[in-house]
Amino acid sequence: MTTHSNQPTPVPANLLQRDKAVYINGSWHVGGGGPSHLAFVDPSKATTFATLIPGSVEQVALAAEAAARAFGAWRATTGAERARNLRAIASGLTKRKPDLVALQMLNNGKPRFEAEIDIDDAIATFEYYADLAEGIDGQQGQTVDLGDTALAGSTYFEPLGPVGLIVAWNFPMVTTAWKVAPALAAGCTAVLKPSEFTTLAELIYGDIASEIGLPPGVLNIVPGGADVGAALCTDRRIRKVSFTGSNATGSRVMAAAANRIVPVSLELGGKSPIIILEDADIDQAVEIASAGIFFNCGQMCSATSRLIVAASIADEFAAALVAKAKLIVVGGPDNPDAQMGPLTTREQFDKVTSVLNQARTDGLNCIAGGAADAALGGFFIQPTIYRDVPADHPVWRNEIFGPVLAIRSFRTVDEAVVLANGTDFGLAATVVGGDKDTAEAVARRIDAGHVWVNTPQLIFPNTAWGGFKASGIGRELGPWGLAAYLGVKHMTRAA
Ligand code: NAD
Repeated sequence: MTTHSNQPTPVPANLLQRDKAVYINGSWHVGGGGPSHLAFVDPSKATTFATLIPGSVEQVALAAEAAARAFGAWRATTGAERARNLRAIASGLTKRKPDLVALQMLNNGKPRFEAEIDIDDAIATFEYYADLAEGIDGQQGQTVDLGDTALAGSTYFEPLGPVGLIVAWNFPMVTTAWKVAPALAAGCTAVLKPSEFTTLAELIYGDIASEIGLPPGVLNIVPGGADVGAALCTDRRIRKVSFTGSNATGSRVMAAAANRIVPVSLELGGKSPIIILEDADIDQAVEIASAGIFFNCGQMCSATSRLIVAASIADEFAAALVAKAKLIVVGGPDNPDAQMGPLTTREQFDKVTSVLNQARTDGLNCIAGGAADAALGGFFIQPTIYRDVPADHPVWRNEIFGPVLAIRSFRTVDEAVVLANGTDFGLAATVVGGDKDTAEAVARRIDAGHVWVNTPQLIFPNTAWGGFKASGIGRELGPWGLAAYLGVKHMTRAA
């Protein structure tokens, strides 16, 4: 089914009422967790539209056991066989795209165009790792010259084992695809723990696994909150944990893994810079800066939330950006003109509004927005911009995870680079400038895992994703995302 309207389409009832929401060993089970149910909220109306019973700590153990039992047969499959399964998952997502888009709009408050980008990204990720899975077979047993005719050496890449995958709520389906696809491609089996705020879309991976005949136990899903996530990190059968979320939780995940000497991949927060050089095209800079902070209502780990602009163009640029921000149509998915939706959770709304209140108390120079959009109901925030924010103020230093931009200006490029790198984070960055070589030279000096030069935040499955410094450990996507689930084995033998 295709739709030509931006209006939300109804989500089928079977996707909202899940009496059995725990997927273990290829079948659905009633959650053993609680006592409270997980509640799913429409953030544009602040109303609950569905609930489900979460999984229990005991069910985490059952899921880990299922993943451990399935591992032997799954690792023995060829890369080509695994690729067939990944392509079937991509087809399953494609078939369900209208329902998934509708669910993302309902549960995350995303405008249709944003929800569609998410699902397309998830599909592309499974297709990309299908290709890489096929390539693995040809890379096995490559010869290493040991310089001794009596000996022969070769290298193999082995899956790490059953893995625990824990994700956040801002891009459900996407961050999950970035983990499930490479893990399964590598030959690992998995237990997935979706965010407690956006579980329903992720459960569709279980529906697809059953539909395509993925061997039982290869992918298991246990919904729940911190207790379920923590249990996954400590289960002795889980041989790696890949986590996307906040730094506070990432630190707990890493500590739990450290106790068992289990590797982790951590995709954490950011406070990413965008540098606007003196020779930048103002219109282009405004478009890129606006998308970098207002897409997904600013709930992006990669949000370029610290804007560093050349002092000579700062007034002209700020005026143009404010004009753009004021034109952004804020609204729920039922507003076909909406360009920016609400924040996704009440917790996030409370956090962002308290930052705005603090900024007001501290007398920050607010040049756009600065408050919740109370008239709309729901968790709406006005696109907000502060200028000349002191470098020691929390609005400049801390991840806000909302549509809140802080601006400072610079006189020399060296000063801009020092400002850009003056953060504990290092996830992403953007540079906008007229002279391509100068802009690229600045990009090279920024501590960030992904830098965009004169483009919006485009992400492709074959490019690396991950952070320097406190933004994380390891890389997702590209061949690095696959390597995160493989161990290197060297074989030395008598020739
Ligand atoms: P969060 O840390 O609160 O939760 C993330 C996940 O961890 C959830 O599934 C949660 O249930 C689980 N969890 C909670 N306590 C746990 C514990 N003790 N052990 C194991 N798991 C536990 O983060 P969030 O609010 O869902 O997401 C927002 C954060 O995620 C932001 O900081 C954002 O920057 C970050 N993020 C990073 C990336 C990236 O690619 N670097 C992508 C998306 C989001």
